[in-house]
Amino acid sequence: MTQSNVRIVLAILLFPVAEFLPGLIEMYNVYNGSGWPPSIQRALVGPVLTNIIMVSYWILLWRRQVHWTQSRVGWTSLIGVASLAFGAALVALFVTFAKDDIAIGIMTLGDVPSYTWILGTAFVWRETRQERLERLKGFGTERVSCPVCKYSMTGLRESRCPECGAQFTIDELFSAQHDRQEEFEQA
Ligand SMILES: [Zn+2]
Repeated sequence: MTQSNVRIVLAILLFPVAEFLPGLIEMYNVYNGSGWPPSIQRALVGPVLTNIIMVSYWILLWRRQVHWTQSRVGWTSLIGVASLAFGAALVALFVTFAKDDIAIGIMTLGDVPSYTWILGTAFVWRETRQERLERLKGFGTERVSCPVCKYSMTGLRESRCPECGAQFTIDELFSAQHDRQEEFEQA
């Protein structure tokens, strides 16, 4: 499994992880006979926790894959603020049209900001064509490198690394480059 595959699995787990703790807390409240509808404070606990977990998890998961320019940081924050405003507007609409308690609105729609924020980051964090070209330039220029110290072994007539002295068979060298090829394909 490549690192990218692992990240995809972790990304899928984001939602259950983010809902688990708030779900437990709410279950505890219900079993302890807390009244219904919940107070606004109680209703806020779940969504606030879920949003914090989702945003932190998402940043931790992708921070090394994102090329953090000033513009990206700016857009990421802006989308965060806009998402919060959007979530609040949805709760207000819910209360108006469903004529329901504000606490119920918060519990129903309170997770929306992190969902829209994550959707936004998928666009903002995506690398531009230019950035991709810059990144790929590094590959391919040194076609063969030492698997141990990464020293370029292009043009050598033996499979011993002149830099660190490590000995390889031809097939070991080949398969080590193949790993690198995999990295390249993911890119
Ligand atoms: Zn070496």
